[in-house]
Formats: sequence, C-alpha cells, structure tokens
Amino acid sequence: MPVVLPDWSPDAPLQPLGFAWSAAAGIELAVLRLDLIDPLISGNKWFKLRHHLQAAAAAGAEGLISLGGAHSNHLHALAAAGRRFGFATVGLLRGEPQDTPTVRDLQAFGMQLHWLGYGGYRARHQAGFWEPWLALYPGFSAVPEGGGGLPGALGCAALLTLARRQLAGLGWDDYDGWWLAAGTGTTLAGLLLAEAGGHPVYGALAVPADHGVPQQVQAILQAAGVTGGSFQLLEACRGGFAAVDDELLEFIVASEAASGFPLEPLYTGKALMALRGQVEAGYFARGSRLLFVHTGGLQGRAAAMQRYQQAGRLG
Ligand SMILES: *Cc1c(COP(=O)(O)O)cnc(C)c1O
Repeated sequence: MPVVLPDWSPDAPLQPLGFAWSAAAGIELAVLRLDLIDPLISGNKWFKLRHHLQAAAAAGAEGLISLGGAHSNHLHALAAAGRRFGFATVGLLRGEPQDTPTVRDLQAFGMQLHWLGYGGYRARHQAGFWEPWLALYPGFSAVPEGGGGLPGALGCAALLTLARRQLAGLGWDDYDGWWLAAGTGTTLAGLLLAEAGGHPVYGALAVPADHGVPQQVQAILQAAGVTGGSFQLLEACRGGFAAVDDELLEFIVASEAASGFPLEPLYTGKALMALRGQVEAGYFARGSRLLFVHTGGLQGRAAAMQRYQQAGRLG
C-alpha cells in the first residue's frame, strides 16, 4: 500500500515550569511537552518525520526505510507511525542483534529489521549504500539517520506555532529564547527557520563538540536559503553521548519530583541540567522568559533508570 500523508497535527501542551534555582534567579520557564503528543509516537521525531513522509507520499513510495541504533528514538517513532498510519517500515540497525525495549517495540510495530554490524553501519555515508536495500525493498523511500536534513527541520518549524498560540494562556506576551537538547541540531534548525531572525535558540549539546553540529545547522539554513538566525550551542553531554553520571541521575530524580514531568538521561535530563548551570551562572537577565522543549524520548527511560538503580547508582 502506498504511503499516505496522515492528517494528524498533534498538539503539545505548553506548561509553566518552576524550580528553586529558576525562581532564585528570577527566570520564568515554560515547557513544550512534545513527550505528550502521543503514547507511542513521542517527541521531536514525529515533527522531523513529517516532511519526509510527505515527500514519500508525493513520490508514491511503498514504505520507508531508515537507520539507527538499538535505542533509536527515530526508528521508534518511524515504526510507530507506520503501524498507526498503515505504511510499511524497514529499519537498518547498527551492530549485532540486541534485545532492547526499543527493539522489541520496533518488532511489535511490524518494522522489518536488518542488523548491519558496526562496519556495515559505518558504510551508510558511502555512495551506493542504499542501492541494495532499495533493490530488496523496491519503491521504498530512504530517510536519513535521525530524520535530519532540511525536510526534518521544516517539520520542526511547527513547534513555534504550537508554543505561540499557548503563550497567552501562561500570561506571557512574549519570551526571550528557546532552550532544547541538540543531537544533530535538526530540531534547533527548524526553530531557527521558523523564528526567521527573531528570538534566539539555545541548544544544549547531547553529543561531544566534535560532532559537527554547528556545521549541520548551517547546512540546513543554507539549504533553506536563510542567512543569520541567532543560535548558540552549549556543552551539555557530560563526557559523551552515552555518559551518565551520578550527579545527573540525582538531578533527574530531584527535578522529576519537583516538576512532576519525566526526563530521560541522554537528552532532556542533560539539557535541563545545563540550563540550570547557565541560569545559576547568571547567563540570563532576571525577568527572562524561556521556552524549554521537552523533546520526548521516554520510551527507553524506564529500562535505563532501572539499569542505573540495579547498579546501585540511585538510592
Ligand atoms: C533525537 C532527539 C533529540 C535531538 O534532536 P536533533 O534534532 O537531532 O537535534 C533530542 N531529544 C530527544 C529526546 C531525541 O530523541
């Protein structure tokens, strides 16, 4: 069955968010809860997929094929969307076969999985990589790793509209910037496109500084024909993408207790912790209002937190 673009524009609530540290610095926060758009299709990955899906539907594609790791939030959203909206999905996975909560979900959603090993996965940027896969799955449309690129960013531009129409409900007439986790920087680039030179966007880097995020953001802006846009990337990965330390885990547990909303360690937990660091360092003037984007990614959270607990790393 050919891919059809679903008529689905999910809503995400914008909620006030307060911590002792933000109140002490006179900073007002609100959180755009992309984790709440759907029980299965969580977070920024749906927005990143939307234009890829649109292109696939326009091309009359038979399904979508993409890549990721055994904990990939991107493959999870793609597989869940395929199940929900009735299109076929194929996932090419990094490494050797693994049994993770994410992989079990992918299988349950009916995604066809192929494990490429590590070397095979590294070949993904080479010319001709997709040919054998598209021969095996004729008529499928390939989505780049993480749903990135200009189509990914264009889908994230919708976040601006979602947040703005809820500002009045918070009693805000305006805001002073966005704060969000950045992995590839695609979501951040989408906000920049939508802001068109307006409010600044701050990205808390969930990956080490040598991952080329500023270049990727610039490449998207360039592809969109946009110059300028005010963004800043701040170190937040705490030693590596998968690095998780006790201070971070304790921060997550305390923040969840104080705010009532869930965080995961790799993106949203690190992003909020980096924000606290900047707020405490006086980076933002008193009276500033910031929009924190909860980018989702909670499907692997329970298992991850349990692993840390079992290792005796949480009380
Ligand atoms: C993928 C992901 C990000 C990073 O998004 P980019 O567009 O790659 O910067 C942030 N948060 C969560 C929860 C994610 O799954």
